[in-house]
Amino acid sequence: MKKIISIGLLAATCAVGPAMAAGEKIGLLMSDLRLERWQKDRDLFTEAAEALGAKVYTQSANGDVTTQISQIENMISRGVDVLVIVPENGEVLSNVLAEAKAEGIKVLAYDRLIKFADIDLYVSFDNIRVGEMQAEALLERVPTGNYFLMGGSPTDNNAKMFREGQMNVLQPAIDAKKINIVGDQWAMGWSAEAALNIMENGLTANNNKIDAVVASNDATAGGAIQALEAQGLDGKVVISGQDADLAAMRRIVAGTQTMTVYKPIASLAQTSAQMAVKLAKNEAINVNGHVNNSTKDVDAVLLDPVAVSKENLDSTVIADGFHSRDDVYNP
Ligand code: BGC
Repeated sequence: MKKIISIGLLAATCAVGPAMAAGEKIGLLMSDLRLERWQKDRDLFTEAAEALGAKVYTQSANGDVTTQISQIENMISRGVDVLVIVPENGEVLSNVLAEAKAEGIKVLAYDRLIKFADIDLYVSFDNIRVGEMQAEALLERVPTGNYFLMGGSPTDNNAKMFREGQMNVLQPAIDAKKINIVGDQWAMGWSAEAALNIMENGLTANNNKIDAVVASNDATAGGAIQALEAQGLDGKVVISGQDADLAAMRRIVAGTQTMTVYKPIASLAQTSAQMAVKLAKNEAINVNGHVNNSTKDVDAVLLDPVAVSKENLDSTVIADGFHSRDDVYNP
């Protein structure tokens, strides 16, 4: 298992000193709190930021980009020091973030990159590596055959990075004519229902001759597995995922999902909280990379993801306390 970077954990547990009494104001803008993982992000971020003396105001756009833009405007008028944003659509925030900039408000892109804007920091996982892990796990088990690509939301930059990583691994096998890509689709809004429909159509178009599904997260994997199940193919077709959602962990134990990618959300949330407070105080930040967002090379902190299958779920997701053993094995 690769070592998980845990920058910021120390500071997040430090006592709140007098210098922190100022109470930095952080606006936390979530794209969609209906997905299991984002509720964890919100709770862990808020806890860590408040332990550092900041006040966190949270809003969720529930998948609607216009709502998110007006929520950002509200936070600007509320006079927050920092905006921490999980963008619903990472390509349409240029105008509203120019307003924030004019007010001297710092911007941290959380998990998903914000493009075409002058943002201060991007904290995420190595998302290309996530895609590589998904494809590697499938190719290891099914080195030849028909592969179906189930991408995430086309408006999420991460979805494109996952696909880039997947193709890094799959392209040599395609060129060597070991595998065929028999479908290539994107599930709008990362919705399980969209994935279910896409998979049903994909199975019909290919007379059920699909050996592997490269699903980009657990929600879309869940939808695809429902379609496979209706054809008696669940457990026979290898399929990836991401997020270590509880339902996905149970499917891995049951053998209907091959793997997931576990991203230690606590590290992401705590690192981001620490960085957000530093941005508010104009303090220097240690970064470990830069990512170009079409406006500039944005300072970035990128954490390591972990590939999880039946073999190592105890020593990763469970050992970390992300889910209890009982929840995973005895639903
Ligand atoms: C995140 C994934 C998540 C997906 C859907 C992506 O940007 O990186 O962890 O599954 O959004 O919410």
